[in-house]
Amino acid sequence: MPSVFSDARQRLQKLGKSSAISPQLIDSLSRPKATLCVSIPVLMDDGSAQYFEAYRCQYSSHLGPCKGGIRFHPNVSQDEVQALALWMTIKCAVADLPYGGGKGGVCVNPKKLSRMELERLSRSYMRAMADFVGPDKDIPAPDVYTNARIMAWMRDEFEVINRQKQPAVITGKPVDMGGSLGREEATGRGAFLVTEFLRSKEGKAPEDIRVAIQGFGNAGYNMAKLLFDNGYKIVGISDSKGAIFDEAGLNVDDVKLFKESQRSFNSDYCASSVCESETYKSISHEELLALDVELLVPAALENAITKDNVKDIKAKWITEVANGPISAEADEILFKKGTVIIPDVLANSGGVIVSYFEWVQNKAGYPWKLDDVRQRLQDKLKTSFDEMWQYQHQSENTSLRSAAYAKALKKLEKVISLQGTKEYFSNVEN
Ligand code: NAD
Repeated sequence: MPSVFSDARQRLQKLGKSSAISPQLIDSLSRPKATLCVSIPVLMDDGSAQYFEAYRCQYSSHLGPCKGGIRFHPNVSQDEVQALALWMTIKCAVADLPYGGGKGGVCVNPKKLSRMELERLSRSYMRAMADFVGPDKDIPAPDVYTNARIMAWMRDEFEVINRQKQPAVITGKPVDMGGSLGREEATGRGAFLVTEFLRSKEGKAPEDIRVAIQGFGNAGYNMAKLLFDNGYKIVGISDSKGAIFDEAGLNVDDVKLFKESQRSFNSDYCASSVCESETYKSISHEELLALDVELLVPAALENAITKDNVKDIKAKWITEVANGPISAEADEILFKKGTVIIPDVLANSGGVIVSYFEWVQNKAGYPWKLDDVRQRLQDKLKTSFDEMWQYQHQSENTSLRSAAYAKALKKLEKVISLQGTKEYFSNVEN
């Protein structure tokens, strides 16, 4: 399997060079500060013990404590976690959050666990990481196949170990356990808002925008729902098992209802797939990505679009809801073709922005109203989008991704130099 981390580093080096960032900074950002790798034991329902490889990467803490989700997936590896943590570093800087980047994960297929096994796995992960994470050190959150309930178990485990209440140790919690209103929908809402900013710049009507969405989980569903409610025409949706298509437009509420109706009582995961719906035509994963649409929304995993299938992509715009859905090589090809890509480091930053709001509310002990959360999210994203847009339009031959990276890297460069560079110390000695 190609290394996602090497791909992420190559992209960083290329974009750092094109925005005249010091090579020393790029060199230091090309490696994580620390990655903890552990085997965590879980007592299974049949009385046996199983071990799972688990990771937490603290990539950079220049701007503040590390921040990033925890993924439960069979393909989780140290390589993947480090790439995701690098992207979190850039994302937090793009959004001007007082956070560095981090990420965690467990190599497991959680759909095969009972709810009790899932709880024991979540608690075992936190036991292994309890000295590594903390409200002012490294703050995890949900990611693929983890959710608010898992965050609640982890918060509880951390507090049992530390013998004190520490709600700010983790975000994406249930609202009744210190979570923020609006966190559940935040990644999808943020992706919808930045797509709306693009639409208004391009002067198109929502009804004229056909959309294909890859991934119908937290991020993909919430984005699909807002696009659907606002008049966009959703013609294709996929999940891990398959995809559905309707030229006349799918009803997102019906697709969601169908998927949810198959959720098994014993599990946190849906047993069925969107492609089992009898209302719509079933198509393959490859066909979904290749649909003739105005907007493609990859909202599943990394490397959905690579040099192997990039020639099939017909979408004019892509909103990267997943992290790293387009490989660096495919990205260059799409840029040359004129595809407008709202990069992941901005497009999915709604999640970490509202996680930051949750952390602020936990620290203040004062919850905000939903309208305040939504308004502040919109304000933050509008500022980041406009800065990125302006930079791109003032520079020659620059993608929105290069513009977003330029902003983030300049911010990191400034803060690192304020913290004391080699040049600074030699000046003092002179
Ligand atoms: P999730 O677990 O809620 O959903 C994942 C979805 O992807 C599921 O519908 C699954 O069936 C689908 N999927 C998996 N493999 C697929 C494939 N090959 N083709 C089509 N669909 C596939 O996860 P999520 O939280 O929605 O995360 C999705 C992406 O968004 C990830 O890249 C994640 O890192 C990113 N993201 C999530 C958040 C967040 O707050 N949840 C924040 C920022 C970024």
